[in-house]
Amino acid sequence: MINFNEFEIWFLTGSQHLYGPETLKQVAQHSQIVAKELDASKNIPVKVIFKPVLTSPESITNICLEANNSPNCIGLITWMHTFSPAKMWIGGLKVLQKPFVHLHTQFNRDIPWAEIDMDFMNLNQSAHGGREFGFICTRMKKNRKVIVGHWQDKKVQEKLGIWSRAACAWHDSKSMKIARFGDNMREVAVTEGDKVEAQMRFGYSINGYGVGDLVDVVNAVQDSAIDVLIDEYSNKYILGDKIKSEGKKHKGMRDAARIELGIRKFMDDGGFKGFTTTFEDLHGLNQLMGISVQRLMAEGYGFGAEGDWKTAALVRAMKVMAQGLKGGTSFMEDYTYHLDPAGMKVLGAHMLEVCESVAQGKPVLESHPLSIGGKEDPPRLIFNAPAGPALNASLIDLGNCFRMIVNEVEVVEPDAELPKLPVARALWIPQPNLEIAAQSWILAGGAHHTGFSQAITSEYIEDFCEMANIEMVIIDSNTNISDFKKELRWNEAYYSNL
Ligand code: MN
Repeated sequence: MINFNEFEIWFLTGSQHLYGPETLKQVAQHSQIVAKELDASKNIPVKVIFKPVLTSPESITNICLEANNSPNCIGLITWMHTFSPAKMWIGGLKVLQKPFVHLHTQFNRDIPWAEIDMDFMNLNQSAHGGREFGFICTRMKKNRKVIVGHWQDKKVQEKLGIWSRAACAWHDSKSMKIARFGDNMREVAVTEGDKVEAQMRFGYSINGYGVGDLVDVVNAVQDSAIDVLIDEYSNKYILGDKIKSEGKKHKGMRDAARIELGIRKFMDDGGFKGFTTTFEDLHGLNQLMGISVQRLMAEGYGFGAEGDWKTAALVRAMKVMAQGLKGGTSFMEDYTYHLDPAGMKVLGAHMLEVCESVAQGKPVLESHPLSIGGKEDPPRLIFNAPAGPALNASLIDLGNCFRMIVNEVEVVEPDAELPKLPVARALWIPQPNLEIAAQSWILAGGAHHTGFSQAITSEYIEDFCEMANIEMVIIDSNTNISDFKKELRWNEAYYSNL
């Protein structure tokens, strides 16, 4: 999907000339030690690069300009080892276009009670140096993450890792091309939106293609390539009887494999990172894409059904953040409720298109009729998502701003087998419960389509939204309706005036 090793976070240390060359030498040594350890941390997937200690406004402005122009630099870690008078940072912060995190740490973890003297105090000044830097960032309304704690603390490194993964997704968004095969599902509101504003805000480039352009590529796929893919299906999945080589639905599986190979070629030739489809525009294709979408998502492509380009882009961004982490990430839809007052739950699924990365165990590959779209029966992978914490995220366009809505959920095992349900699914209990979560979600205008992840937490999305400077609301175990309604109204005053 992406190669984390290509990306760099620059480690910037703030100080000043006042301390003299000896102290500054020590500051630089400390800074190199910290940067080296963060670079080696398994929690931070990208490179952390030490940069010379900054002691003047000119050097700060220059490094910020350099960061802007470096294609591999996805952001900055800033650390005020000593006191760095913050007017020196105004010029640099003004031009900086990359996200940054303020690491509020100190080289020495503990106060050496018996030995502490003024030399120690002068070399460990982050406690006030970091506050001076914080002031200027706030005064300049700079979005950033502030991480507090000792740099060797696992929790600090994990938070830096989360932020760096969000920065990778932000970087990836800047060159994210999404192909739309067909337009939005007719008359649907929430999947609409301002594609120009989305490109200005996130960098997404969303463009439409005639489904016939895709059909040409699909029809050009070689039979030998289909044979190879059918072998892969047979090895990787449990094939339903009708779909096996002697079964009457076998041709449908070959057609699905042809579609998969065609879309992948279309994506790769055009440099696309995601796509949308719609069952209302399938001219020249004999089935709605099922397994092909499920498998392409697992490779890292974003996807949105019914023309939903905002969710396609969001799923891609979430997949970049989640790369290499345990747990899957998928396009999802709140489909059906279990409204037993003793334990209300949501059954999430889609007509077909749930990513196989969220499958528990070996998926079953079967072909079943689709009651919508009027095409041939599409083969699809059928599975349950494993139990555990997860989230649903939705990006909506409110006309004058974007809003991200996140609901933390707990995926649970189904109460019983679902022998007649021929789609992949996840069953979850929303936080704090279905009643408050659905109320909040609906008041916030959240869509029925979401990006669902068992790999990332709300903190990843929050860091991403800070970089994009968009509103984000979280529905979690602390949510209550009265406060949530106020938050939406307060946010409206802030974000609609940006
Ligand atoms: Mn849908």
